[in-house]
Amino acid sequence: MVVSLQLDRKIAEETAPVWAKVKDFVTPMEWPDQARLISEINALKKERDAVILAHNYMTPEIFHGVGDYVGDSLGLAKEAARSSAKVIVQAGVHFMAETSKILSPDKTVLIPDLKAGCSLAEAITGADVRLIKQRYPGIPVVTYVNTTADVKAETDICCTSANAVQVVEWAAKEWGVDKVILIPDEFLARNVAAQTTVGIIAWKGRCIVHERFRAADIEEMRQAYPGAEILAHPECPEDVLAAADFAGSTAAMTDYITAKKPRQVVLITECSMAANIKGDVPEVDFIGPCNLCPYMKRITLENIRDCLRDMRFEVTVPEEMIAPAALAVQRMIDLPPPLVPARYDMIKARHHVSVELI
Ligand code: SF4
Repeated sequence: MVVSLQLDRKIAEETAPVWAKVKDFVTPMEWPDQARLISEINALKKERDAVILAHNYMTPEIFHGVGDYVGDSLGLAKEAARSSAKVIVQAGVHFMAETSKILSPDKTVLIPDLKAGCSLAEAITGADVRLIKQRYPGIPVVTYVNTTADVKAETDICCTSANAVQVVEWAAKEWGVDKVILIPDEFLARNVAAQTTVGIIAWKGRCIVHERFRAADIEEMRQAYPGAEILAHPECPEDVLAAADFAGSTAAMTDYITAKKPRQVVLITECSMAANIKGDVPEVDFIGPCNLCPYMKRITLENIRDCLRDMRFEVTVPEEMIAPAALAVQRMIDLPPPLVPARYDMIKARHHVSVELI
C-alpha cells in the first residue's frame, strides 16, 4: 500500500490502528507526515511523563492519534485532577488548560498555542462578575467552565453543558433562592431556563461556532435528508434546539450516536465532532452543516510535538485565584452524575421561561 511504503515499517505498524480510524478524513499523501509526528509525540510523552487531554473538537489525527484522554470539558477537567502524570498537554483551548492547572497546581500544564482562546471566555472578566454580585446580592453565581480563572475565582459553582440544569437546580436549593446567575453564554442560559423552573439571570456571551446556526438550516437538512437524525449543542439558539431531534453536550451527543447508531446524522456543532465519532462508529453517515472553531483549530500535531519537545507554553494561574476557582470547579465535580444525560430538546413542563439579561 502507498501509505506503508512511504513509512518506516515500525511507525507504519505502530500507527496502523490510528490510520484505520482517520482514513476517511486524512489523505494517503498527508498520512506519512502525520504518522511520523504521532510516533514522535507518543515517544515524547513517555520521556516527559506527560498525558494529552484532547477535546472532542480536536482534529481526528490528534483525537485518535495522540489523545490519552478524550472528551468534553467536564470529562477532561476530571481527568486532569485524576492523572498522576507530571505534565499535562491540553489539546484544547486556553480556559481548559487553566482549569487543569487549577485542579492540579503542582503539575506542569502546557498548551501548544497560546492564541487558542474562546469567544465565550473572552466575553466576561472577574471584574464584571464582582459588579454582577453587587447588583444581585445573595444570588449564587454559576459559571460555565468556558471562562478564565479570574471569573472562576468569583464563582460559587461551575457547570458544563452536560450538567448545567443539575447545577442550577442544586445552587438554587443550596442557597434557598428561586433564581441563579448563569454566565456567560446567553444561549446556554436560555436553553437551561427551558428545562427548569429556576429563574435565570444571564450574560450576553456567545460561542462564535454555535451562534451561527439557524432553525432554517435544520429545516433545509430535514427536507434534503428526511431520514437523518439531527443533534444540536445547547450553545445554539433556542429555536435550533427546538427543531432538533436531540440536544445535549458533546459527550451526550457521542453517547446518543454510539448507542443508537442512526443511519444518517446531522451534527449541529463543531466540524471535528463528526469526524471523531465516525472513527468509532464507521457505519453512521454524517452530513453537514458544521462550523469550524478557529481557536480549537490552532492546535496541530506539529505544535503538540513542539510543545512537548521544548516544554512550551506553560499555563499558570495566579496563586490567589487557585483556591477559590478550585472550590467552584470541585463543587461541580463532586455532584453525583445526572441519572440521565442532560437533554435540552425536551421541555420538562410548560412553564414560564424566566431569563433576565444583564
Ligand atoms: S467552540 Fe465555541 S465555546 Fe468552544 S472553544 Fe470554540 S468559541 Fe469557545
